[in-house]
Amino acid sequence: MSIHKFLNVITNCRNRLHIGYNYYISLIFLDKYTKQVYNISTVYIHCNVIFQRYDMYRYETHLHTSEGSACSNSTASEMARKYKDEGYTGIIVTDHFFNGNTCIDLSLPWEKKVHEYCKGYEHARETGAKIGLDVFFGVEYGNGASDFLVYGIDEKWLTENNDIMEMEPTVFLEYVRSCGAKVFQAHPFREAPYIRGTIHCPLFVDGIEIYNASHRDPRFNERAKIYAEWYGLPVTGGSDSHNTTDRFYPGGVLSPRKFTSALDYAEAVIAGGIEILTPPPPSAK
Ligand SMILES: [Zn+2]
Ligand SMILES: [Zn+2]
Repeated sequence: MSIHKFLNVITNCRNRLHIGYNYYISLIFLDKYTKQVYNISTVYIHCNVIFQRYDMYRYETHLHTSEGSACSNSTASEMARKYKDEGYTGIIVTDHFFNGNTCIDLSLPWEKKVHEYCKGYEHARETGAKIGLDVFFGVEYGNGASDFLVYGIDEKWLTENNDIMEMEPTVFLEYVRSCGAKVFQAHPFREAPYIRGTIHCPLFVDGIEIYNASHRDPRFNERAKIYAEWYGLPVTGGSDSHNTTDRFYPGGVLSPRKFTSALDYAEAVIAGGIEILTPPPPSAK
């Protein structure tokens, strides 16, 4: 195992176990200040327990691209490469839909508009195929500052359903779920100057994003967690990243098995088959 590969593995452990983080820092320190040539196999044995416990697949569930979201400034291809570098197995592209912060020209005919919207996903998928990263499709449906992550639909479904923008939000949620999709509410208790209010409709969603890696105020996540517990709703996490550097920590979920689709991921959340990537402990920030 090369030092770079080793460090990559350790880096990917750091949210899960402080010891992994500390090993990483020590190695960087040694490398930078002493130029010491250390025996990697020795360190590997020390860390073996970490590898055994944390050998899981890592997924991003919530991210934006500059192809689809006005607030994103990294291309889908750049995002895919970044996640691959960080050791993720896959990503789900969830650009803001036409009722969110979209960068798609809304005057275009529906079919063309949907096609443009899906380009972030398509470009990420093309890059993913080259570099070995699974890329799945999702939608961040908006209603003011209330955002809902929809998994299990695709370009064909959107093209065929050209009346969804005329539906009230809960009517849309009910409809898209009746078509087999799963919906998780994103950051239901975020506070920001652009948020005038958030709708909470626990009977119309399949779960709640209780960890959002863009939140620096832990209360936003804590409230979401209480909300989900209150209603007995499944829980998940995501980064909500808008470029390659904006995350507070590498978010998303871990799974003991590989997902085959965005819907597969959503069903794993509902079945309780994932672990959420959480912020690093205060000492490791
Ligand atoms: Zn955004
Ligand atoms: Zn988002």
